Amino acid sequence: MDNYPIGVFASIGAGLGVRLEVVEELGIHSVQLCCPHKESRTQENATAFIEKLNQIGVKISVVFCDFKGESYETIQKTRETIGLVPPELREERKNEIREIAAFAKTLGCDRIGIHIGFIPHETDSDDYRDLVATLQELADDLKAQGQAFHLETGQETADGLLGFLTDVGRDNIFINFDPANMILYGSGEPIPALKKLGKYVRSCHCKDAKWSAEPGKTWGCEVPFGTGDVNARLFLETLREIGYVGPLTIEREIPAEPERQKAEISQAMTLINGLKTEIWG
Ligand code: MG
Repeated sequence: MDNYPIGVFASIGAGLGVRLEVVEELGIHSVQLCCPHKESRTQENATAFIEKLNQIGVKISVVFCDFKGESYETIQKTRETIGLVPPELREERKNEIREIAAFAKTLGCDRIGIHIGFIPHETDSDDYRDLVATLQELADDLKAQGQAFHLETGQETADGLLGFLTDVGRDNIFINFDPANMILYGSGEPIPALKKLGKYVRSCHCKDAKWSAEPGKTWGCEVPFGTGDVNARLFLETLREIGYVGPLTIEREIPAEPERQKAEISQAMTLINGLKTEIWG
């Protein structure tokens, strides 16, 4: 497999991303997996799933956390419900991340992806200190199992994330860079952010978006990769520039329109394959 296999964000059972059948149809051999919910995370399901993956020659690059009660309906809802940031859910979700990491281990995956949520900006607050301590604790637990944490971009500016990573100070926390999220959340221009975060970027999403008229207040609009404000060519060129090696994982979240989703992922594959040849040779 080359250094930059095309991947896709996928799920089994509940969650975002495409179904495994679509992965097979598209001829993709790398997935990031949106982790199934608790009741489906059984040994039996894991065994059946691994068998299926082997059958169609697919490898999981990252297992992504997906918690019940999360909502991306509005930026405000995201602020209230996503990841480890809501203080009242932190302990429960911390424990669930340990379970997800164990499930990922069963699947042979050593990378756990997560949207941790909007990090509090008052770095001298108890809430911020507790979030940092939570990440440290989880990073240490993951490290003991040979696993790493990949924090997805979106809610924070590149500088905000860098400050947080420095405060957490663990060497198994990396970035899953999603250029579209920088635009959707209004967190900054994606290419300069990618350059700033470069040394931490170990996985990515090939996703695209257009800026909102009120960045940070209302959502930007997700569009097919290559048709938005990301600049797909420059994104891939910058990945090369920062020395990124890893899957180019396409993400297209239009769950209500599976046929359109499949067609647009297929178009993104054609685009990426062409650019890969031009950029990486
Ligand atoms: Mg993403």
